[in-house]
Amino acid sequence: MTQQEAAVRVAELTEQLTKLAHEYYDLDAPTVEDYEYDALMHELKALEAEYPMLLAADSPTQRVQGVASGDFEKVTHSVQMASLQDVFSFGEVENFLTRAEEAVSEPQFTVEPKIDGLSVSLEYENGILVRGSTRGDGFVGEDVTANLKTIRSIPLKLKNAPVFLEVRGEVYMPHASFDRLCAMHEAEGKEPPKNPRNAAAGSLRQKDAKVTAQRRLDIFVFNVQRVEGRTFETHSETIDFLQSLGFPVIPYQLCTANIEQVREKIEAIGAEREGYAFDIDGVVIKTNSLAQREILGTTAKYPKWAVAFKFPPEEKVTELLDIEIQVGRTGVLTPVAVFSPIKLAGTSVSRATLHNQQFITDKDIRLGDMIRVRKAGEIIPEVLASESHAEGSQPYTLPTHCPVCGAPVEKDADAAAVRCFNPACAAQVFRSIVHFASKGAMNIDGLGPAIVQQLLDEKLISSAADLYTLTAEQLLTLEGFKQKSAENLLNAIEQSKHQPLDHVLAALGIRNIGQATATLLCEHFGSLDAIRGASAAEISAIDGFGEIMAQSVADTFATEKFAALVDSLLANGVEMQYTQKSTGDNRFAGMTFVLTGTLPTLKRDEAKAKIEACGGKVSGSVSKKTTVVVAGEDAGSKLTKAQELEIPIWDEAELLRKITE
Ligand code: NAD
Repeated sequence: MTQQEAAVRVAELTEQLTKLAHEYYDLDAPTVEDYEYDALMHELKALEAEYPMLLAADSPTQRVQGVASGDFEKVTHSVQMASLQDVFSFGEVENFLTRAEEAVSEPQFTVEPKIDGLSVSLEYENGILVRGSTRGDGFVGEDVTANLKTIRSIPLKLKNAPVFLEVRGEVYMPHASFDRLCAMHEAEGKEPPKNPRNAAAGSLRQKDAKVTAQRRLDIFVFNVQRVEGRTFETHSETIDFLQSLGFPVIPYQLCTANIEQVREKIEAIGAEREGYAFDIDGVVIKTNSLAQREILGTTAKYPKWAVAFKFPPEEKVTELLDIEIQVGRTGVLTPVAVFSPIKLAGTSVSRATLHNQQFITDKDIRLGDMIRVRKAGEIIPEVLASESHAEGSQPYTLPTHCPVCGAPVEKDADAAAVRCFNPACAAQVFRSIVHFASKGAMNIDGLGPAIVQQLLDEKLISSAADLYTLTAEQLLTLEGFKQKSAENLLNAIEQSKHQPLDHVLAALGIRNIGQATATLLCEHFGSLDAIRGASAAEISAIDGFGEIMAQSVADTFATEKFAALVDSLLANGVEMQYTQKSTGDNRFAGMTFVLTGTLPTLKRDEAKAKIEACGGKVSGSVSKKTTVVVAGEDAGSKLTKAQELEIPIWDEAELLRKITE
């Protein structure tokens, strides 16, 4: 990799990690698994080590990523709440032990489980809990005293306490509390929390302490941050003292720098982990002597006297009970593994996609097999392998006929998929109506799969167009509908008539056409009539359209059934209008812009809209493909990157001049 390529990758990683950290710490809603985040962080660290000139002071590798939100009073920590350096192999643990041994004499270490929760500080004055806060960015956190006081295992008053004591601990949600919360969410028809760690973070950062109290959180205290009126020599001594004061403390084991001893303890914790009533994501190894910790020192982000060994994503073996065949909106048959429920990353899972025949054949997955499953990216379970076959089992092949309508299935010409080509197949009709109503499409609030199924079962609808002729009387005949819910659904259906044409096209589910390509079609042709009348050749002239996509649009509009559906929708009042965003002068056509920093008058969205109205694209990261970087005040690494790549840099005035000149 050249330095220039490395610079581009560093910029990409920085941006991606910043976004993921915001979702994780500030929104309590991660979109990827921890190990994926860790892998990106390691890639960035490795690049910065290879090209030190690319290491920015504000790189995610250099600082703790959370931010104290404006929802709570801010607390400045008198002792920094640092993070931990994480490692993923015993070799790296050994390096850590060796480095410590070289720096201090005969160090002792503690080995502790790494609780997967969120870090808090608790401050006691004369034994009274006066303040509790979150870690935030390590320097400034949020005051969540009222919420922390609802955690029963946190002592509010200490006996024989020092004059002042600040301790640090990890608040977590025990499995029992998590299961209870999931059941409550399910009963209320709400999306269940992703995992206990996020549920704990979300619960502790509630505006109403009563909500936190209901969530039944718990804590393990693992450090004395600051103490007045007492001294300690070792970490183990402080933990024993905290236990004597009534804190639930982290269990620790003492050992020397012997890697085999440390490894044994790590493996023992890994093996016991299953039986714990809470999640752990690794093991922390710390120097026991407090004086030696001083010598070993800290970086801006983490202490050099400790290291966190992270467990790889959890995998489990379970029995494959069945392979269910799902028939999708476009008729594709997808095999789904149904297995004995297992707990992975805090949640119970019992299903995972097997993708297609090729996937099953490659792994030789058979009914009754013991299969290995793990939770992969996007928090979706994944079948890794077949561990063993059941006696007398046969290789699995997908059915030759659609399990829903019985039509023979055929291999798709352009993909590995097998497809049911019967457009009247009940499964396809059901899924296409669910898709039609979904968020990115017609956005009909309250029309989920269960209600679509009810409407089809009762023969109140047979296509998406029938939704627009439903009446309150009809809905009231369905189980679970009351006057109010019927009115709400009819209102949502009525509202959807105003959805712009690109959303309607995406809702109609033309093969190979998603939301973005539907928008391109509308931007180019401007109206339904123009799109309907266009030939495949005319459509393929659109930048971003391939021949297959263009042919798919032309063929679909030429189908009688599709044309009839579009006409019925129009007749039932669906507007299908589109306002083109482009001003038509296209002065920025083919140019890619990156916005960075705060512009003096324009908000980000406004600047983006102006650029797009002139035909330009706006991207989030600087690369060789960037045409111009528009920089405002406090522009950070993107500006530096642009300078390195010698990309033209404009200020807001320049941008506005270019738009109006
Ligand atoms: P960390 O969670 O890996 O380690 C530091 C934390 O461990 C401390 O703050 C402390 O509270 C906690 N801890 C638990 N038990 C402990 C013990 N016995 N001793 C000492 N500390 C203990 O580091 P971090 O900076 O808080 O978070 C980084 C991690 O968060 C990443 O490695 C990743 O796994 C996860 N993350 C995930 C995403 C995502 O999108 N999935 C985004 C950001 C961060």
